[in-house]
Amino acid sequence: MRAPKTADFIVIGTGVIGSSIAFHLMKRNAGRVLILDKNLAAQGGSSRSSALVRMHYTLPEEVRLAVKSYEIFANWEDTVGRPGHLKQIGFVQIVPESEIEQLKKNVEMQRKVGANTRIISSRELNEIEPDWRLDDVSVAAYEPDSGYGDGSVTANDFLERAREMGAEFLPRTCVSAFNIEAGRVRGVATDKGGFEAPTVIAATGPWSVPLFRAAGFELPIEAEFHRVAILKNPPAMKGGGCALIDSACLVYLRSEGDGMTLVGEFTGTRGVDPDDFPQSISHEELAEVALLGARRIPALENSGVVRGVTGMYDVSPDARPLLGQTPGVEGLYIACGFSGMGYKISPVVGLTMAELIVDGRGKTVDISIFDPGRFAAGEPIRAPHEYADA
Ligand SMILES: Cc1cc2nc3c(=O)[nH]c(=O)nc-3n(C[C@H](O)[C@H](O)[C@H](O)COP(=O)(O)OP(=O)(O)OC[C@H]3O[C@@H](n4cnc5c(N)ncnc54)[C@H](O)[C@@H]3O)c2cc1C
Repeated sequence: MRAPKTADFIVIGTGVIGSSIAFHLMKRNAGRVLILDKNLAAQGGSSRSSALVRMHYTLPEEVRLAVKSYEIFANWEDTVGRPGHLKQIGFVQIVPESEIEQLKKNVEMQRKVGANTRIISSRELNEIEPDWRLDDVSVAAYEPDSGYGDGSVTANDFLERAREMGAEFLPRTCVSAFNIEAGRVRGVATDKGGFEAPTVIAATGPWSVPLFRAAGFELPIEAEFHRVAILKNPPAMKGGGCALIDSACLVYLRSEGDGMTLVGEFTGTRGVDPDDFPQSISHEELAEVALLGARRIPALENSGVVRGVTGMYDVSPDARPLLGQTPGVEGLYIACGFSGMGYKISPVVGLTMAELIVDGRGKTVDISIFDPGRFAAGEPIRAPHEYADA
């Protein structure tokens, strides 16, 4: 079937963000939606995501996006019509002793916003996670209902449902330029020809930078390379443990099923080419990442390597996304710069972007703080009780 050359909305990108936007536009019957991706569906960062779902953030708007998205993940079948895939293994946030006061204040704020979270003592944490080394921990934040999902499943479920509701999808169609006339977007140029629409939404991850540069906009986003190791637990280790973000040991991890642990690097290498980064990691590098996990779970020193994952974060200067209309171009919207947090908030980023586009503002969550023009205006976001690692 030939795709139509015109639409009401063109969504570029089929990661968790673009697919969610397309789903929500279709769900509210907003008009004809055409979805384009230069690859197959969800081949970008989304299918490589560690997919932690947690509410622990320092900015109330981030927590609102996470809490409302959690409600969708937890009721996936009702909302999206596909089997749910959220694994509620629990989540723990550990910070250095110097940041305990921020941790307590952030948990207080998160509870007010609706997150199921509380401060627990190291003794209680030891009962939950007997394998964890806790000699440097007095308290931690604990979210019993949080856990992890699957980036590929989330993106494909949103995309399939959008298509079932009538959206058109063209894979392997690379957008080379936006067509802009008199301050208004008119459509896009691609390697398969031009497509017209009065509204274009770019959910293009780290590839947003060259796309917007061609239109005269310099996005302050860098691609950051990250490595992940999936490990087979040693026999004596308890399986199914909580997800953890540990800014004292500079590592994050979570169980992967009952017998495996996923360990991810906390920091990555900036300025990498998103079209030319290592697709695999050596055995030496895998051991290096595994040993980061052993800083908190010493038993992981005796784990076996299953496989590695590599991927890119699209990092903005304040480590928060750019959501909204491109300054000076009517109808051209951007949703990128997720800085390693895009998975858990994708359901409601899609919903609020659809609200912004159709109703003029994000209603479920006010996303105006994430306006893409904030950096040019010299107003990056700063949370009241920010951590050193943001
Ligand atoms: C290793 C790793 C671990 C992560 N862990 C977590 C986590 O635990 N929790 C969490 O919340 N987040 C996590 N993230 C971040 C999260 O996965 C991302 O923020 C999210 O997947 C981004 O989705 P996206 O749709 O914006 O981008 P992507 O999934 O990268 O999708 C962008 C799409 O745009 C397409 N595209 C780009 N340019 C063009 C063009 N010119 N024309 C046509 N198509 C184009 C690409 O092909 C791609 O399909 C992690 C990310 C990585 C890499």
